[in-house]
Amino acid sequence: MTDTTIFGKIIRREIPADVVYEDDDLIAFRDIAPQAPVHVLFVPKTPIATLNDLQAEQAVVVGRLAHAAAAFAQREGFAEDGYRLVMNCNGDGGQTVFQIHLHLLAGAQLGRFGT
Ligand code: C5P
Repeated sequence: MTDTTIFGKIIRREIPADVVYEDDDLIAFRDIAPQAPVHVLFVPKTPIATLNDLQAEQAVVVGRLAHAAAAFAQREGFAEDGYRLVMNCNGDGGQTVFQIHLHLLAGAQLGRFGT
């Protein structure tokens, strides 16, 4: 199945993005509207619309995203200072692109959760 979202277009290089990491399973690029000094999205190449669609046998995909994000934080030198990983799901979660993705936010003291 093909990812028809804007992230699928980025993966296929049909639209530009500031790609910071890519391997066979995932791509990572800087968010076009950053919410922190560092804001990178980690997106699997397997099309999965929301976390609700994640099958048990696909759970490793989310682990790969988290591992890639942690490795990026270490390479970039802010792992010790800290960072936040977020996945939004559907309307109340604030999901706007329906291909699962992990937000990495860093570079400042982040606020607490909530509305
Ligand atoms: O979790 P959510 O679905 O809201 O996140 C989607 C993110 O994708 C947004 O932070 C938005 O700024 C980002 N985006 C992007 N490049 C695009 C379209 C959206 O970085 N071309």
